[in-house]
Amino acid sequence: MDIAQYKGVWCFAELRHGQLIPTIYELLTVGQQLAKDLQEGLSVVLMGHQVSGLAQELVDRGAQKVYVYESPLFEHFLDESYALALKDLILKEKPNKFLIPASTIGRSLASRLAVMLGTGSLADVSELSIDKATGSLQAIRSSHGGGLLSTVLCKTHRPEVVTVRPMVFPKAEKAPGRSGNVLKLETDPEKFKSRVRFVKFVPEESGVQDIASAEKIVSGGRGLGNPQGFELIREFAKILGAAVGASRATVDAGWIPYRHQVGLTGRTVRPKLYIACGISGQIQHLAGMSSSDLIVAVNTDPEAPLMKLATYSVEGDLYQVIPAVINEIKRLRD
Ligand SMILES: Cc1cc2nc3c(=O)[nH]c(=O)nc-3n(C[C@H](O)[C@H](O)[C@H](O)COP(=O)(O)OP(=O)(O)OC[C@H]3O[C@@H](n4cnc5c(N)ncnc54)[C@H](O)[C@@H]3O)c2cc1C
Repeated sequence: MDIAQYKGVWCFAELRHGQLIPTIYELLTVGQQLAKDLQEGLSVVLMGHQVSGLAQELVDRGAQKVYVYESPLFEHFLDESYALALKDLILKEKPNKFLIPASTIGRSLASRLAVMLGTGSLADVSELSIDKATGSLQAIRSSHGGGLLSTVLCKTHRPEVVTVRPMVFPKAEKAPGRSGNVLKLETDPEKFKSRVRFVKFVPEESGVQDIASAEKIVSGGRGLGNPQGFELIREFAKILGAAVGASRATVDAGWIPYRHQVGLTGRTVRPKLYIACGISGQIQHLAGMSSSDLIVAVNTDPEAPLMKLATYSVEGDLYQVIPAVINEIKRLRD
């Protein structure tokens, strides 16, 4: 493979129910930096049904070119159709790097695409830079439970297909009125046909706020002492309009479902406010929340790592501190 032929940084704009997921703005931040270092262009691939109206938003956030695959065939994500269409485009345009969100959809797409293109996949990375001598990506990902950071390289194949952890990079700012090229692509339904058929989408019926997009999170840890402790966390979260998070210790104990888990093997969050109650703050938990804007820790142990990291550390029993704060908020609101 003559890797010198491959130029440009591409990002994949993932959609859910016809809307862009904000991770694309994070990809645009890191993509812009890589494109600058390589002195190459920055493009986005947008796929879906009736989605070309979203292209300007991507231009406003820094994309110089937006490739649009618009067809009922792409209304719902189907690995096979999406990967066939992307493969077709990549073989024609030869991008150098392709950044994809490390979401369920992105992970599935990236691995399939890398195999189909016979290139390398750099999975779940949290730092990206360019090796000046070779132009290859240096992709950093954590492994062995967060105890080790490894730098992954794909030296001899292009494009390097990368999945980027959500919430690690800030979102690219919007500068309305930017100009860029929007290119509508031909869709050949026969060529991009999938053997899998979309039947229907069944939403989770929990009515629970999702931690991944929450601006405020109240999390509970083993310091709650028992599963009923989460009732207090839920009450506290409700009064603040926050989502409920959890440490892995509580998830493993079956006190709360996995979707609430924050951390290395849970989810990465970046809220404006993160309140950790009875969580010690082991490295694997911190890996998922240390980029939060303002961190409050409530813990009986002043030496707990999260108490050291927090913007405000409250030393005390959470069963005394939280009800006192709830009462004070109620009093101020009445
Ligand atoms: C490969 C691997 C991946 C992992 N991934 C994750 C992950 O994604 N997320 C994650 O969270 N963990 C993860 N872990 C586990 C992690 O190492 C810790 O074991 C876990 O985070 C501890 O949870 P905790 O803080 O709730 O419990 P503990 O460490 O037991 O801490 C409980 C805290 O509560 C305090 N406390 C006790 N009683 C009270 C009270 N009444 N009031 C106030 N404070 C009180 C204690 O002082 C203590 O600091 C992972 C581990 C491994 C090996």
